[in-house]
Amino acid sequence: MAKRFSAEKYVAGILAGDRVMLSRAITLVESKLHSDQELAQEVISQVLPHAGNSVRIGITGVPGVGKSTFIEAFGIYLIQQQKKKLAVLAIDPTSQRSGGSILGDKTRMDTLATNPQAFIRPSPAGKSLGGVTRSTRESIILCEAAGFDTIFVETVGVGQSETAVHAMVDFFLLLMLAGAGDELQGIKRGIMEMADAIAITKADGTNADKAKMARAEYQNALHLYPKAASGWLPQVSTCSALQQTGLDTIWQTMTDYLQLTHSNGFFEQKRHSQNLQWMYEAIRQGLEEHFYQHQQVKEQLPGIAAQVKEGQKSAFAAASELLGLV
Ligand code: GDP
Repeated sequence: MAKRFSAEKYVAGILAGDRVMLSRAITLVESKLHSDQELAQEVISQVLPHAGNSVRIGITGVPGVGKSTFIEAFGIYLIQQQKKKLAVLAIDPTSQRSGGSILGDKTRMDTLATNPQAFIRPSPAGKSLGGVTRSTRESIILCEAAGFDTIFVETVGVGQSETAVHAMVDFFLLLMLAGAGDELQGIKRGIMEMADAIAITKADGTNADKAKMARAEYQNALHLYPKAASGWLPQVSTCSALQQTGLDTIWQTMTDYLQLTHSNGFFEQKRHSQNLQWMYEAIRQGLEEHFYQHQQVKEQLPGIAAQVKEGQKSAFAAASELLGLV
């Protein structure tokens, strides 16, 4: 078990920008131990008034699209050119990549990982999507309280985790390859609809022209979607993380988006509805935990489940019987 301090000590450390304390607080948030969770909630409540003052950016794209390389290049650009303080969190419950999400990529993100203005935290291993989602949301709050003004939440663009990330960020960036086709890239249609911007990666060398063509195609495709509630028309651009080109355009797009959504109230409105969504999800998770940990449920569930399986009892009757125990 990780070393524990008092809530006040975590809070003081985080507010002073102490990265070690920030890391340890995130470990608390990720812990499954009830006592850790209680302490984590205390820390979060105390830092909450100091959180929120950041831009939360979701970044997704299939493995191989160049996410780690992009995050490193774009991160360095934001730190050096825009004087940002950047935290990178990952949502990757599948952890299919070697070493589990961005920890395995640390060698590729090593410039960023060693930059004093950056904080990189991989996805916790062995957790469900719900578990990772919750700890990432709470980690965002901790990072903001520690003074990080730009938060990247990275995810692999193939599963449900995009929806989860979309629900916790202000801006959603989809990275795509030129000439690979949506299906080939495993990008689901719904994911494209969630994007506030698409960046065609690896627009360099012989790939540059293809990338430009893909940009025009995607921009046209996006025009066909119904207008977003934000009033924003998603933008498509090209970039090369290797040559560090197109990064300023992507930042400009984000800045334009922020300007628009701050002025028309959408930014605030979205944050408010996300807050509510977090609460309802926490309630749902709490109820579920409470239910499955209930002694009588634990005792009776296997027998009742067997009856349902054999068709001796209807699923609804069984559920209501079990729910009645709590
Ligand atoms: P991830 O799996 O999405 O994190 O992708 P990586 O960042 O690991 O990149 C996958 C491969 O694409 C690596 O071999 C990178 O060197 C290469 N790559 C990434 N960005 C660029 C780029 O801007 N230009 C070119 N030519 N190759 C790139």
